[in-house]
Amino acid sequence: MKLRRNSFFWVLLKMNMLPLILLTVVITTFSAVRFASSMNVETKNGLVNLCHTVVTLYDTVYEGDYHIEDEGNSVYLMKGDHLLDGDFSIIDAIKAKTGVDITIFNQDTRVVTTIETSDGVRATGTKANSMVAEDVLNGGHPHFYSSTMVAGIRYFSYYEPIYASNGKCIGMIFVGKPSEEVERLVYDSVKPIIVFGILTMLIVCFVTTRFSGKLVSAIRRTEAFVVTIAKGDLHTEFETDILERKDELGQMGRCLVRMQKSLQELVEQDILTGLYNRRSGEKLLLRTCENYRKEGRPFCVAIGDIDHFKNVNDTYGHECGDVALAKISERIKEHMEGKGFVARWGGEEILLIYDNMQLDTAVSCMQELLEEIRAERITYGDTAFGLTMTFGITEGNAGKVEHIVRDADVKLYEGKNNGRNRIVYEAN
Ligand code: GH3
Ligand code: MG
Ligand code: MG
Repeated sequence: MKLRRNSFFWVLLKMNMLPLILLTVVITTFSAVRFASSMNVETKNGLVNLCHTVVTLYDTVYEGDYHIEDEGNSVYLMKGDHLLDGDFSIIDAIKAKTGVDITIFNQDTRVVTTIETSDGVRATGTKANSMVAEDVLNGGHPHFYSSTMVAGIRYFSYYEPIYASNGKCIGMIFVGKPSEEVERLVYDSVKPIIVFGILTMLIVCFVTTRFSGKLVSAIRRTEAFVVTIAKGDLHTEFETDILERKDELGQMGRCLVRMQKSLQELVEQDILTGLYNRRSGEKLLLRTCENYRKEGRPFCVAIGDIDHFKNVNDTYGHECGDVALAKISERIKEHMEGKGFVARWGGEEILLIYDNMQLDTAVSCMQELLEEIRAERITYGDTAFGLTMTFGITEGNAGKVEHIVRDADVKLYEGKNNGRNRIVYEAN
């Protein structure tokens, strides 16, 4: 389907696709963001729970409170009688099971940690960044960070203060995962939502385009039909699949075909007699001659004229003349069915084209017609009368149309001059 910017197809696509794409982007983004944030909350809760497990484990393994032992140059973090510095057994075991890094701080200095520096040694003795120290140590509150730098790595981390028995904050516990790991986890979970959203959008776009395409194709074919009629070809055929539609397009198509028929009648037919008018008669004659030239298809041309028709008008009036003319025309039309064409050539002169017929057959047909006309009774009010006609008939040939008609006309006048009510023919 050709996509023109000002076409109906384009309007339909814009109407369907834009809201769809917008809706998909909004819903997918919203779902992805909601999902990512709920994953963050879940990870955060996991870290908080793990931190509490670490605290409980230390409380269970080493009884007593946290406190500081000051030995002149060095300050040690104790849990009851136990020196925490350098004891990695608990945190290493937890890291091995959960993959989460753990650190215990004496003030802001790491005394036990699972984190290693880039050189591959434990990051003990290194310090927490000033923001963490300010928030957790000085503020005395647990804190969560989605991105803190530890040993050159970004961490998704949770810090909880450690209090001595006198209520003084003397250190912190850190549990954390590298942010990259958490982000990858979130990304892997959100990816199917995005892929699903995009796939659904593509499928709906495809289906919409197919339906719009079919609809627009029917509209374009209807438009082509109207354009052909507007150019003057009243015999173009309308596509049946559109006519069979049950919707408004089908209804419009059926109306257009009716309109085409009305136009054909108006343009091609004579109102009084219902026969083809002279213009159509000329066209049909040309087409018949053309067929003869191309295919050798034989034909005969006759001109008929009602005898003493002026008398009918003069005696019974013009209206009665009209009735008589219509009646005779009807008879001739019936007679010509399946034999060719008949047109009102002018006044009460009729042109008959016997298509695909030799002269002798045409003449015998015409004799039957003459009998039928003679037998016809015209009634008008209380009046009833009969009419006769004179015909001149000639065999078609490859010559000019005007010459063929003139030949028939000459014979007609011969008939008129020789007593009327007859058929005059002579093979050329
Ligand atoms: P002829 O036998 O020689 O043909 O005699 P005619 O009286 O029929 O003579 P002609 O054909 O020359 O005259 C035709 C007449 O037919 C003249 C005209 O008044 C009449 N006529 C032509 N068209 C109509 C029509 O549409 N209605 C009526 N009522 N009369 C028509
Ligand atoms: Mg006449
Ligand atoms: Mg006449």
